[in-house]
Amino acid sequence: MPVLLALLYVLCHGMVVAFWPGTAGGGSFVFLVAAPLLAAAACLLRARRDRAALGWRATALALLLWAGGMGVNMIDALGAGRANITPTASLLLYVLYGVPLVFILARARRERWSISLIDGGMAALLGVLFFVHTRSFADRIDVDSHALALMQRMFDIQNLCIAAFAVVRWLAGDVPERRVFFRALALYALAYLGVAFYINHYTAEQSFGAYNDLLIDVPFLLLALLALRRAPVPGGVLHPQLSRLVQAGGPIILPLLLLVVGTLVVDHARALALAGFVVATLGFGLRSTLLQSDLLARQAALDRLAHQDGLTGVANRRQFDTLLQAEWNRARRSGAALALLLVDIDHFKAFNDAHGHPAGDRCLRAVAAVLQSTAGRAADSVARYGGEEFAVIVPASTLSGVLALAERLRLAVEALTLPEGPVSISIGVGYLHPPAMASADQLLADADAGLYAAKRAGRNQVVLHARVLDDGSSGEGVIDC
Ligand code: GH3
Ligand code: MG
Ligand code: MG
Repeated sequence: MPVLLALLYVLCHGMVVAFWPGTAGGGSFVFLVAAPLLAAAACLLRARRDRAALGWRATALALLLWAGGMGVNMIDALGAGRANITPTASLLLYVLYGVPLVFILARARRERWSISLIDGGMAALLGVLFFVHTRSFADRIDVDSHALALMQRMFDIQNLCIAAFAVVRWLAGDVPERRVFFRALALYALAYLGVAFYINHYTAEQSFGAYNDLLIDVPFLLLALLALRRAPVPGGVLHPQLSRLVQAGGPIILPLLLLVVGTLVVDHARALALAGFVVATLGFGLRSTLLQSDLLARQAALDRLAHQDGLTGVANRRQFDTLLQAEWNRARRSGAALALLLVDIDHFKAFNDAHGHPAGDRCLRAVAAVLQSTAGRAADSVARYGGEEFAVIVPASTLSGVLALAERLRLAVEALTLPEGPVSISIGVGYLHPPAMASADQLLADADAGLYAAKRAGRNQVVLHARVLDDGSSGEGVIDC
């Protein structure tokens, strides 16, 4: 149905050109202004239900600027414009049309607004420099026969850049919605490039009002159709490596274009060219700094996630293994004692069965919080060892200090007031002093043996299983019941 409407649009436009040829009537202009407006409306509609909303909105803005340029042409053609203002105004609008497109093509995903603002500033200055450069040709058209060709070449370059960048972003799209957006933009930009090239180079000057105008409708109607299309969005990333490269390299596009166009205008607009160089350098430096700080924050968050247990917030098993090995090495170097407590919630399966899994999770969180707050020394590390088992690493402490801590942990959990009723823990203690002759695994095996003994002896108690006691003897001792 939309395809039929698009064909009808071109047909009506053709009939208007057939019956009222030339620019005087202005009939063809109505279609030339309406086509980008329709495409802009389609893009805005799509933006309301799409994850690539910023892209669709930026494209809509570009189309509005283009429609404005054509509107000024229309005023000109109807004789209502002031001859020395309107060509400049339409030129400015046609140049500015590229600014939102270059902005969106250079933008990487998930960048914060301060970075986008810097890019926006660079894109706007790029538009101004491009305009100044293009107008320098426009001013000379009457006296210099090459000026028009040079100006048209500038627009060819602008259109080619937009089409090429859009194709690359389409191929490199990582999020399906963004790939669909860049595909639409690339197809539109390629069609626009072809049509603009043909109109600028192969048709007579001031040819509005002829059948060539129908060609101008095509890219806009194509974009409107693509924006309104509700095809399923394909998943997956086509070229992951290219995608990463384009995401990382995209931000260099704007400063690079600023430097190139700044160099082009350096002869006739020195101050602006200088502004271009400064903004390109500072803008890129500033956005890189902001991006780097974002990346560091994200890295820190990822590190935290990699080391933390998702349910309880204490260290996870992987972090526990690292911490135990580190403390073991430190104890061996310093000759200080090292203790390990293995903590297991008693009858937790029955607790889960009676109160449900979510209540079990709440209980695990509460026990972890109590262990964390009770083992208050900065050097002590609480970790979730697995399931309903926790581990506490206690470096450089006396045996009596470790046993007192274990007892405090047991009492603190016993004192917990959960809605489901009381819970208790059994604790196995491994203690090595000096630890030189054994290994971290040995300490773990000792704590495990202590825990097994505590369970066997009736639960809710602390059992020490030590190889070398403070007094040099070895053995196993039940501390509390
Ligand atoms: P014991 O006193 O001998 O330790 O008995 P127990 O029931 O505590 O020990 P058992 O090993 O038989 O059961 C452990 C239970 O812990 C079984 C499992 O459903 C529960 N569990 C393990 N991880 C989680 C968890 O993340 N959330 C919840 N809610 N339950 C868990
Ligand atoms: Mg267990
Ligand atoms: Mg248990």
